[in-house]
Amino acid sequence: MKEIILLKDGELALKGLNRSTFEDILNKNIRKRLRHSVGEFKFTRAQSTTVIEPVDENVDFDKAVDIIRHIFGVVGISRAARCEKDIEVIKQTAFGYLGEELSFAKTFKVTAKRSDKKFPYNSPAICNEVGGFLLSKFHHLKVDVHNPDVNVTVEVRDHHAFIHGNQLKGAGGMPTGTGGKAAVLISGGIDSPVAAWMMAKRGIELTAIHFASPPYTSERAEMKVHELLSRVAKYSGRINLCTVRFTDIQEAIRDKAPEDMFTITMRRIMMKISSEIAKNQGCSALITGESVGQVASQTIWALQCTDDAADLPVFRPCIGMDKNEIIEISRKIDTFDISIEPYEDCCTVFTPKHPKTKPTVEAAIEAEKAAEAEELIKEAVKTAKFTAIH
Ligand code: ATP
Ligand code: MG
Repeated sequence: MKEIILLKDGELALKGLNRSTFEDILNKNIRKRLRHSVGEFKFTRAQSTTVIEPVDENVDFDKAVDIIRHIFGVVGISRAARCEKDIEVIKQTAFGYLGEELSFAKTFKVTAKRSDKKFPYNSPAICNEVGGFLLSKFHHLKVDVHNPDVNVTVEVRDHHAFIHGNQLKGAGGMPTGTGGKAAVLISGGIDSPVAAWMMAKRGIELTAIHFASPPYTSERAEMKVHELLSRVAKYSGRINLCTVRFTDIQEAIRDKAPEDMFTITMRRIMMKISSEIAKNQGCSALITGESVGQVASQTIWALQCTDDAADLPVFRPCIGMDKNEIIEISRKIDTFDISIEPYEDCCTVFTPKHPKTKPTVEAAIEAEKAAEAEELIKEAVKTAKFTAIH
């Protein structure tokens, strides 16, 4: 018996994309992630299923399963035992491999799929044989063909038989890379990691941009961003993080721009710098965690001013969501606990007491001119630092 992972075509979120392109990208993503964190795996395709098996017997199989389940594009996977095509071996393998699961279950059924028509037992006969055998081993079990606790599946294929229990749910979405590339403006807050995750779910490869203002913001705040991104990377794969030093620019805005326009000016400059970096990185859009009305800089008038400064389309997947709805996703993807750690973000230093909630684009452009930050912006783009987050 060898343990393997089955990825079935029916379990892929295939929509609007060529099947083989989708599969190739997904398999490449899975292989890369496994290689980076667990070890080398062999991929073979047969009868609309990809079989993933470890090359080295001693790999951490549980970890591999956990990694694959989180990869975007995987709707579900089956963890299976592969054995010889012999009815007695199949029975024993089903008992040995699924025994623990069955001992906790109340009901089960057996589903058989026979693609090798030369196998001496047809599907109903396989069900009878295996079902009868398992009932003789587990006296507490009852058969329920409609809604069983465990669906024991036996697949008799060309070279082997596969035996598995219930399918495990995957992350869904589209494989990273099928949707192009975008740059997410990431803070240490709750919203931006959720926004990153939501766009990555649609197959977008992420670059991340973080603005840090030392000494007003600490190194710990930057580490928090690394941790948040590594949670998102569990789904999206490697993310290139670009950290921009923002201190001098923030001080220039504080010293020279009208106080009530401080935040808008800062956000416009963030958009300008991010657009430059994003284009250099081959990105076609920016992503933020903004949501209408959340704070003064997120009224539709303020957003109009920020958009005006961006050179790329800005995607804001949280735009119509309540904070509670955003929090629900952040809990699901395991970023919430990190996001609520109390470290300063550059957006919370020098904040004005009375920010303008209905700024005009003209006033925002004037305020930005007053800050005289053109040279500082160029410098910030030039000195940005890159780190790969896995
Ligand atoms: P979150 O940052 O998660 O949205 P928040 O609501 O406290 O939490 P805001 O100040 O509202 O953050 O910022 C709005 C958006 O601007 C963020 O979602 C993020 O996309 C971007 N942003 C804020 N601060 C930074 C930063 N330091 N670096 C990069 N992007 C940032
Ligand atoms: Mg926010």
